[in-house]
Amino acid sequence: MAQKQNFSFLADHLSLDFVGTEFRRSGEYQDRLETFDDLREWLKQAGLLGSPEAVALAKHCSAKTSERVLGAARELRKSIRTAAEAIIDGKLVPPGPIRAINGLLIKRDGHFQIERRSAQLERRFVSEMADPLALLAPLAEAAADLLCDGNPALIRKCADESCDLLFYDSTKNHRRRWCSMSACGNRAKVAAHRARQRVA
Ligand SMILES: [Zn+2]
Repeated sequence: MAQKQNFSFLADHLSLDFVGTEFRRSGEYQDRLETFDDLREWLKQAGLLGSPEAVALAKHCSAKTSERVLGAARELRKSIRTAAEAIIDGKLVPPGPIRAINGLLIKRDGHFQIERRSAQLERRFVSEMADPLALLAPLAEAAADLLCDGNPALIRKCADESCDLLFYDSTKNHRRRWCSMSACGNRAKVAAHRARQRVA
């Protein structure tokens, strides 16, 4: 079995972290969702495989079903990127991505129930999950949250021209520029430092 990846969650919005599983940076291209196992691991690290039903469903997918879910996940990723980039460019979100996201929102199947946790009562979502595509429904919900309730002005692309990672700027001053300080932010700092040295 392939080694488990550590995914990064730096975009400050789950849907954009998901988009960031595929990126181009400094001429390098990476798709970190190569297999269904990668997808399952991402969902787990994102906290989206919380319910026992989801864990069971993800575990027992046949090879054919796994391929179908992985394909749908990649499509969803593309749709969220297209929608977010339209917003960044000040354009209307085209109907295609909305249709694709809606197509997964409808897969959410289940109900809430009240459960007792010692003295406390807790509301838990019990998923019926007949269709394995329901695994992607929480991600589609995150996308709907971004597109409907997010502040469009805070959806941004990394300021490094060679990097296409997206993020949601929830910093206090709304002046976040980089996908991550350790990658593009640091590279910019080093470049600025070198430029200063040349001038001096
Ligand atoms: Zn970047």
